[in-house]
Amino acid sequence: MRIKAEQALLPDGWAQDVVVETGADGRIASVSKSADPAADITVPALLPALSNLHSHTFQRAMAGLTETRGPEGRDSFWTWRVLMYRFLDVLTPDEIEAIAAFAFTEMLEAGFGAVAEFHYLHHAPSGLPYDDLGELAGRIAAAAGQTGIGLTLLPVHYRTGGLDGRALAGGQRRFGNDLDRFVKLVERSREILKALPFDTHMGLAPHSLRAAPAEDIAALEKLLPDAPFHLHAAEQEAEIEEVLAATGRRPVEWLMDNFEVGPRWCLIHATHMTGEETSRLARSGAVAGLCPVTEGNLGDGIFEGVAFLEEGGHFGVGSDSNIRITAGEELRQLEYSQRLKHKGRAVLAEPGGSVGRRLYDGALKGGTRALGRESGAIREGALADLVALDPARFAGSGKDDGLLNGWIFTGDDRAVTDVWSAGRHVVMGGRHLYRDAIAARYRAVLADVMGRL
Ligand SMILES: [Zn+2]
Repeated sequence: MRIKAEQALLPDGWAQDVVVETGADGRIASVSKSADPAADITVPALLPALSNLHSHTFQRAMAGLTETRGPEGRDSFWTWRVLMYRFLDVLTPDEIEAIAAFAFTEMLEAGFGAVAEFHYLHHAPSGLPYDDLGELAGRIAAAAGQTGIGLTLLPVHYRTGGLDGRALAGGQRRFGNDLDRFVKLVERSREILKALPFDTHMGLAPHSLRAAPAEDIAALEKLLPDAPFHLHAAEQEAEIEEVLAATGRRPVEWLMDNFEVGPRWCLIHATHMTGEETSRLARSGAVAGLCPVTEGNLGDGIFEGVAFLEEGGHFGVGSDSNIRITAGEELRQLEYSQRLKHKGRAVLAEPGGSVGRRLYDGALKGGTRALGRESGAIREGALADLVALDPARFAGSGKDDGLLNGWIFTGDDRAVTDVWSAGRHVVMGGRHLYRDAIAARYRAVLADVMGRL
């Protein structure tokens, strides 16, 4: 397919009248600067599509259910988690697939070309595995296949209910495996993913220091030595206290002291860090997996963004709880939280530089790294993960870096007209090809689930 862009963001900056040709292999076959009008599609602006580095798709269906204050005490991440467990306890495999397909559709329509699904819902509500250990991994894979999103599946290891090794309880039973069974689940997941296109990847994710004992993290780190390796770290202050009490170290400090945390690692949230931890994580090459909309919704706290970027840290963004699925708003919330913290403006930009450009370039690079995906740039040979924006759909100026500032700060997802994932042209005119059918199925599932809660 030949895509003609009036302006395009190339590795060396903005260019006018660019023709990008995608090949049958899902990669970019050529990039040329040409006024030649022959093209299959002409778009006002073409960019590499972002990768969403952290998602739990099933949580999309409980978005908005927890915005009422409880009768006693303080609402928090922990009270939200109680409802999340109750919610997931009623979901069937068919429903999990329908919700995932809907969430993936929304991600594509928001301008994400790919997603890392942090998949921890493995078993039946009783805690017993399904006949096929990979039943629910298969449902996530089926949803990805149906929507055409690029998938990095992260099977999640979840073994304990806390650092004291307590057993899993309630909704957590659907997550649990000992190490042997988890390794079997990884093998089964690998088989399942063979049905998906060539750009599919698998990584591993020990859930958190609460849920994965140190010896299990060490074993998993060796299991797939080059694959993306993600875990939740330092999201909540209570978690910092628990890790400090059990190990004498803070979570990020403990990880850095005990493992070779490097570029294939992605620490999700990394919200609460000392200056020393911030600096060490930035210098490690690991990606900080920021989920600003969810972190704001859950009241987690504010990431040390300014110091982390000054030290050369890598970051990407994820939609996490999927309370909202939006690429531009994740970047806006990231910058605004830093402005509120530091009482300044344009705090994440380089001196003299554009905020939108810094955020987009950073999230492209970090997202690509976290997913193990060869995307993130419009250049020959890269995966054709592309997004087209129409500046007429937002208030900003829409030229060069002003396009990114305009989209992120003055617009929303309606600016996204077309999205390609590894060359699959799945969003056209702002809508996913199969939106109607996927949304109808999701609405039916949601109504049924609400009746059973
Ligand atoms: Zn998460």
